Amino acid sequence: MLSAAHINILRLLNQSGPLSRTEIVSLSGISKATISALTAELIALGYLQEGEIVYGSGRPSVRLGLVAGSAFFIGVSLVSSPFIALATDLHGGVVETRSFEATTEPAEIVARIAAAVIDMAGAGTIDPARICGIGLAIPGLVDAAESICVRSTLLDWRDVPIGAMVAEATGLPTFIENDANAMTVGQHLFGSLRGTSSCTLISIGAGIGCGHVLCGALHRGHRGGSGEIAHATIEPDGLPCMCGKRGCLDTLASLRSIAGQAREAGLPTSLAELDSAASRGDHDAIRILHRGGTALGLAVSQIVQSLDPEKIIVALGDGPVDGLYARVMRQTVDANVMPQEPRQYDLSITEVDERAWAIGAASVAAAHLFFKA
Ligand SMILES: [Zn+2]
Repeated sequence: MLSAAHINILRLLNQSGPLSRTEIVSLSGISKATISALTAELIALGYLQEGEIVYGSGRPSVRLGLVAGSAFFIGVSLVSSPFIALATDLHGGVVETRSFEATTEPAEIVARIAAAVIDMAGAGTIDPARICGIGLAIPGLVDAAESICVRSTLLDWRDVPIGAMVAEATGLPTFIENDANAMTVGQHLFGSLRGTSSCTLISIGAGIGCGHVLCGALHRGHRGGSGEIAHATIEPDGLPCMCGKRGCLDTLASLRSIAGQAREAGLPTSLAELDSAASRGDHDAIRILHRGGTALGLAVSQIVQSLDPEKIIVALGDGPVDGLYARVMRQTVDANVMPQEPRQYDLSITEVDERAWAIGAASVAAAHLFFKA
């Protein structure tokens, strides 16, 4: 079993990449003798290996790195149909992927997850003894500490103890997380948010999600509802939202609402096709994308002003990252953040596929078991 001191070293190596023992000593503030003992234990357990040699002013030292195949994590996405289960290694690399039919019945979902785990464990690419845990990305409000899905409109769930159910069926430690939070953890451990202590990810899919890492840790808020920007009012008295309010960000900038507006205008509904129509000069397409990009840009600028993140990623589930929607969003952020020289935020727009949720879910298990502060 890994101790907090072991996890401290694994976390440093995850966030910084391979380090020499001397570098680990200076970054951790722990004595050289203790680091030598701890790293020897981690090497014996197979989690660390010696790699490149660093030549400095003193004796050459060897860098220690994480061994990819020393631990595997199962990530399950219940976000889009079909559901996805995959296995990642200690570097966050995807080793196996399965998809299974979506349903809202918890017992059925648990049975399908258990079958996918057995299938992946037997594929020959994974040492089944090194599968350490499972993470679930759930569209809705979760109580991560109790592993309960408190509420999910998409799954029609209320207070479902899905974490305990999956743990019982598979015999593996199981962790659950809100979908956008899971994707944020994935990017912070293994993606472009790595190495930052304060960052934000905004996912744009059928709905809109958002996750924040503050001081190096995922920020869930008082009840786990942090990041619910989809229902922040952007346009007072605007379009009716499914939440009962009007003018929420979701009504203007989610791919579902953009598709709905496009359908009404007799246009194709995907962001990519709508962007093509806009580039051909279609006024309705330009109006819809402009309105959505402006709404999202306003929401992002408010995050910049209130949280001052070092990096922000907008993860687009569809459409070009340099299309009209994305360009207007970026321009709106630039125009609505207090001017500072040099610019104080780093905003990138990236396209993600359906697997990103499941990779995030696997990262949640990795974070709990190997990298948690
Ligand atoms: Zn709403």
